[in-house]
Amino acid sequence: MPDADSTPKDESPIVLLIDDSPMIHRLLTFKLKNEGLEFLSAFSGEEGLELAQENQPSLILVDLDMPGIKGHDVIRALKSDPKTMQIPTLVISGSTESSDKVLAFELGAIDFITKPIDLPELRARIGSALRLHRLMEMLEQRAQIDGLTGLKNRAYFDERIRASFNSLSRNKQTASLVMCDLDHFKILNDTYGHPAGDSVIVGFSAIALRTLRSCDVACRYGGEEFALILPDTDAHGAKIVCDRIRCRLEANAWPANPGITATASFGIANIPANETASVEEWIESADKALYQAKHAGRNRAVVFGDEPDQSALRPAS
Ligand code: GH3
Ligand code: MG
Ligand code: MG
Repeated sequence: MPDADSTPKDESPIVLLIDDSPMIHRLLTFKLKNEGLEFLSAFSGEEGLELAQENQPSLILVDLDMPGIKGHDVIRALKSDPKTMQIPTLVISGSTESSDKVLAFELGAIDFITKPIDLPELRARIGSALRLHRLMEMLEQRAQIDGLTGLKNRAYFDERIRASFNSLSRNKQTASLVMCDLDHFKILNDTYGHPAGDSVIVGFSAIALRTLRSCDVACRYGGEEFALILPDTDAHGAKIVCDRIRCRLEANAWPANPGITATASFGIANIPANETASVEEWIESADKALYQAKHAGRNRAVVFGDEPDQSALRPAS
């Protein structure tokens, strides 16, 4: 199924401990070994920042008084980097100074635990921070999902297509964007009713998900329109994928409304084959190809820059 990043993580949460004292590392990994946590150890601020970037832990515990980068500066660096700013960070420190606590909270720490460590309290605070983190991840994911189909939504697409374009331009790789629109959907709604129309939208989404690779991204662009981002796929490959989805949709049975035959049209734009200058132009090219597919008779996939295939439509394997 595409979009592996939409599935919840069920591995042990990773906790990154940044403290120059080996004794604290031994104590915590030993005393918390039955909590279902995976510990990562960093013995300096520099090492901690590197491990946080590489491993994206669920939680960071950081000491304040360390040689080299001090704990407050570690928190400052974590909170100013988009890759680590969401990770809940707890301070574990020997300091009881109010100014140290205030500064840590101002910088974005969510909790402050004073050494010597009270283990039941630390356990409870780690549990509470991890619950908060999971909740935030869940809310973030929900905000990107379309409620009817479970596909990514338009807001996600807008962000993702820009990121894909930037990374492809940098790395000189190829990718295809497909804009897709269900055919004569007004008639389908008028004939069978809106709930039947909705079931076709859901059915199309399921077929697309079944057909695409795990690295592909399927989004509901709006109403009965969809956008597919296919990394590492040239126009020829994208056409094969679209024809496969198209034929599966056309052949699909709709048990609640046996009279329905649903079809869709696809517009494909590949970069950098047509040396696309901007993300807007990429989307526009796919839109133009979709318009051509509609104009040429619907139920077909057209690659931007190609003449639409006017011949009988061949079923895809
Ligand atoms: P075309 O082949 O040219 O695309 O014809 P069309 O009738 O599909 O035309 P168009 O794409 O302009 O119309 C889309 C229609 O889809 C309009 C609206 O009634 C219907 N629609 C949009 N969103 C939904 C939805 O969420 N559920 C249902 N059931 N219908 C929707
Ligand atoms: Mg439409
Ligand atoms: Mg339509």
